[in-house]
Parts: sequence; structure tokens; C-alpha cells
Amino acid sequence: LSGKLGDVFDRLRRRGALSESDVIEAMRDIRLALLEADVALPVVRDFIAKVRLQAVGAEVLRAVSPGQQVVKIVNDALVDALGGEGAVPLNLNAASPIPFLMVGLQGSGKTTTSGKIALLLKEKQRKKVLLASLDTQRPAAQLQLAQLAERAGVASLPIVPGETPVQIARRAMETGRREVFDVVILDTAGRLAIDQALMDEVKAIRDVTAPAETLLVVDAMTGQDALATATAFNEAVSITGIVMTRLDGDARGGAALSMRAVTGAPIKLMGMGEKLDALEPFHPERIAGRILGMGDIVSLVEKAAENVDQQKAEQLAKKMARGKFDLEDYAEQLKQITKMGSLSGIMGMLPGVGKIKQQLAEADLDTSILKRQAAIISSMTKAERANPDIMKASRKKRVAAGSGTSVQEVNRLLKQFEQMKDMMKRAQKLGQKGLARGGLA
Ligand code: GDP
Ligand code: MG
Repeated sequence: LSGKLGDVFDRLRRRGALSESDVIEAMRDIRLALLEADVALPVVRDFIAKVRLQAVGAEVLRAVSPGQQVVKIVNDALVDALGGEGAVPLNLNAASPIPFLMVGLQGSGKTTTSGKIALLLKEKQRKKVLLASLDTQRPAAQLQLAQLAERAGVASLPIVPGETPVQIARRAMETGRREVFDVVILDTAGRLAIDQALMDEVKAIRDVTAPAETLLVVDAMTGQDALATATAFNEAVSITGIVMTRLDGDARGGAALSMRAVTGAPIKLMGMGEKLDALEPFHPERIAGRILGMGDIVSLVEKAAENVDQQKAEQLAKKMARGKFDLEDYAEQLKQITKMGSLSGIMGMLPGVGKIKQQLAEADLDTSILKRQAAIISSMTKAERANPDIMKASRKKRVAAGSGTSVQEVNRLLKQFEQMKDMMKRAQKLGQKGLARGGLA
């Protein structure tokens, strides 16, 4: 048994920390990748400087090279910079009819996206949506939106020739109120380039409608220019979100990082085709992978990291089996449980623990409790963790204060720890019988 585990530990032992030169070297390729993906140069500089600080000194997993480790760190930072885990939803917290204002350059996909959002709100949120075209620039623009509305099965504002965009906006909101629409989507005209007339028009429309969302629609294919567009619109009408279109093409989408970094506005949606249902919540992970273009390395490092978790689990299992389990280990286990959402990892390695596992699962471990418990343990001294018996009233008070919890919670943790230790002893006895029959598992 120990030979087998020993091998595993050896294989997974850590390699050391990333040095400054490891990081600088790896950053050369990364910088190039970001620039090729259309991230703006100043944004690349800032981003790399920030990540460099994070990366130096980080541990390198044994199974990967320092350069690969840096790629993974950059990837995670990129996901964060693009908005982290999930997409920011459209803001529907406003009085009905909720105005959404669509802005952007001509051909960016405003009209198409208006139709897509209308369909999305209708299907997924059961909203009653009115589409209104304020585009008096191109003769066919209002008709285009009316046709899209028909395809999406939502209403569109009747066309009245000769009105100005502001007049149409007013009429759209009045109609929205009178006919009790939940959302009114205002699709505006664009220009081929940013000009004062366009900005004045958009500002005037904003002033009469007070939109809950001012969504900037940007074509991912415009690359570096997207940043100037986003900056100009944000200064004029403070955008609340960005929609990137044509991400079904082969643009890598680096402009997303630039626009988000400079305007602070979240990328909310991505257009993935011409069809009305080709609209998806923005996936920071997917776009980060696309911008960096080093997906293989990222998954390689992720696999190696999983193995390290596995290593920790095995170490713990070994300690448990020996009855040498202290609060330090308990804290480590809490971390693992929080991560995995179950006890399967560690307990599963001990023989004969099926029943205990089930009991623990039934105890309904709430992760906020686990986090508080972890805080309690980290407020304890090393001696206290190794030997919880010395935890008397004054120590408990100190730890409760230090961890922002209460003495009762400290007591509960200590009790739970004792119970777990107890269970482990029993599991171990069962395990020895199991081992006699044929080893781990
Ligand atoms: P607008 O001038 O900003 O209103 O742009 P339109 O909505 O009229 O779109 C211009 C063209 O881009 C149309 O041919 C659309 O079908 C196309 N388009 C819009 N969004 C996307 C997208 O996400 N992917 C692809 N492939 N084409 C799109
Ligand atoms: Mg249009």
C-alpha cells in the first residue's frame, strides 16, 4: 500500500516556484498572441504587467513547464478580466415599458440584434416586446426591423413617414405604455464612422427615453477599431453593456478585452450568426480561450492541477487511515469539499466508508458553514490545530473574535471534528477487514 501511494506522491511532487525570468520569457509569446487577437496595445501592456506580478512566485506543477504554467495563469486572469464566471444578464429592473437603446456603427448588427433580443425576451422571459426602428437614414431600415419582428413573432411600431428619430422614440414609449408592453427596444441608425451628428442624435434619443439598457453593438471583425467606437459611445451616452456580433466568424475577439477594460461595461451577449436565435450569453471562458489561442496548454495544466488535488486527497486518506488526523487536515478537507461539493474524493479512498459517506451527505453540508469553519481553523494557532483538546474558554473566545464567528460556532466545529475523527476510527477498523480481503477500494 505505502509503496503504491509513495509512487503517486513522487510523481506529483511540486516543481518549485515561477521565477521572474520564467514569467518574462513566457510573456513574450502571450503578448504576441494578445496583439494578434486584436487586443489594444495599452490594454495588453496593463494586462501583462498585472499578471506578471501575480505569476512570479506561483507554484509550478511538476507535470508542466513554467511556460505552460504561466499560460494557465494568464488564461485565468483573462477570464476574470472578461467578467469572470457568468454573463451579466440584461437589466429588466425598471418600470414597464422598459426601454432598451441599441447603438453602434452602421452594419454592426444593431437591427439584427434587436430582433434577436426581442425573441430571447419573448421566449425565455415571457416578455411582451415592442420593436421600434428609429433609423430614418436608410429607407429600408424601418421595414427591415418590421420584417424581423414578424419573424420573431413580436410587435413592431407602425411606420409613420416623415418623423424624426426623437419623435419616433416618443411615440414608441407612448405606445409601450398604452398597450402595456414590458420592453421597448429602440433600434437606432448608425454611421460608417463616429461623427458628431450621430452622437447628438443618440443623446437626444437617450434623453427622451431614459433607457434601462444602452447596448453598444460591435462587430467582432472590426478588430482594433472597436475600442475607439466603444470609447466614443461610452463618453456620449454611457453604455450599460456590449453585444459582440459575428463571433461565428474567425475574429478572435480581443476587442472584448479592450472594450471591457476601457469602458468598464460588461460584454453581455454574443451574436453567433445571422439567424434570430443565434444570440448567446457572453462566455468569458470561451472568449478567453479564443483570444489566447492556447487551449491545449490550459487544459494540460488543468489536468495536472487535478492530479495535485488527487495527491492531497490521497495524503489525507493515508493520514486518516493511520488515525493521525488533526484540524489542519480537517481544514484541508473542508477546502476540498467546498470545491468538489461532496465528500466523495477523500472518503471514497478509505475502504468501507460508504455508509458514513451517506450520513455525511445527508447532514446537508452547506458551503457557507464550511467557509466559516475554515475561518475558525485559520484563526487557531498551530498548537491548537494539532491538539484541539487545549481549546479552553479563553482560547475559544479569541478564535471566535478572530474569525468573526461565535464561541458556539467554535464549539460546534470542535464537536464535529471529534465526531469525524470517531467515524474515521470506525472506518479504519472496517477498512482493515477490507484490506485483508484485497486492498484499497
Ligand atoms: P445594423 O446596420 O447595425 O443595423 O446592422 P444589421 O443588423 O442590419 O446587420 C448587418 C449584417 O450583419 C446583416 O447582413 C446581418 O445578417 C449580419 N449580422 C448581424 N449579426 C450577425 C452575427 O452575429 N453573425 C453574422 N454572421 N452576421 C451577422
Ligand atoms: Mg440597422
